[in-house]
Amino acid sequence: MEHIDSYAVFGHPIEHSKSPLIHKLFAIQTEQQIEYTSQNVPADQFIKTVSSFFEQGGKGLNCTLPLKELAWEYAECKTERAEISKAVNTLAMQSDGTVLGDNTDGHGLIKDLITNNSINLSNIKILVLGAGGASRGIIGPLLEKNPERIVIANRTINKAKNLAEEFNKKGEIYGCGFESLKNQQFDLIINATSASLSSQLPPLPSDLLIKEGNCYDLAYGNEPTTFVRWGIKINASKSMDGLGMLVEQAAEAFFIWRGINPETKPVIDFINSQRVN
Ligand code: NAP
Repeated sequence: MEHIDSYAVFGHPIEHSKSPLIHKLFAIQTEQQIEYTSQNVPADQFIKTVSSFFEQGGKGLNCTLPLKELAWEYAECKTERAEISKAVNTLAMQSDGTVLGDNTDGHGLIKDLITNNSINLSNIKILVLGAGGASRGIIGPLLEKNPERIVIANRTINKAKNLAEEFNKKGEIYGCGFESLKNQQFDLIINATSASLSSQLPPLPSDLLIKEGNCYDLAYGNEPTTFVRWGIKINASKSMDGLGMLVEQAAEAFFIWRGINPETKPVIDFINSQRVN
């Protein structure tokens, strides 16, 4: 009988995760014999559940909210990008029996912006809203694309300032509160707050985006998010949500586990075709 390798996504909540569908589509496309399930794992059950998953022969895991920092602590060795972001979304059992931790979120965002949406990141002014785990994962990869400047704005101002300080050797970057955004303008505004998940929007001036600028919400849903709607209202050239990033970060995890790069466009197109617009 053919052997089937086991993968899963752990999170809390996890019911609406699209990861099982994405990895199923990747596996069919690349003819890989894998199973990929989802499991609701509260933070206090994480270590026990992840250890038992690998003991039973599991090959790899994705970890989402609120488990990425715990996965970072769990991983026995980490890639440089995971080390810097202090969060792990992908765990992989290696041939020597140790568990590798990686963070593919930043890669997913950059791929979706540049490759899928033809957005240039060099020499532009980027505003990142939010200073949580997702921001931490995307700031390094964004700075590597040599923007003119990145401003991080957050509800808790000190978190934005501290995060900017951590990265200020890699490029021009500042942290502030939302009030300081008055009279500033950006080419690209990235919403990395979780406000969209509760249909909320950070308080933003309506003239924050330059003409022909773009908006990107890391959050996604079956309908356009509150931030995506705001971007459309202020006439963004493109106002996108994080579905493309989700599929791209999953493709990078699939590559880490299986050594094969799946094609992402058919998967993004398929999931988009099932959404209400
Ligand atoms: P997190 O660590 O909990 O951070 C949440 C951030 O949102 C904090 O900066 C918080 O500000 C801010 N925030 C929460 N509610 C707010 C509100 N009502 N108004 C203004 N700011 C608010 O969460 P995370 O892991 O960074 O995730 C952030 C978002 O990214 C989520 O929507 C998540 O689904 C999405 N995400 C998407 C992908 C993808 O593949 N597309 C990958 C990763 C994450 P304070 O610091 O002041 O509390």
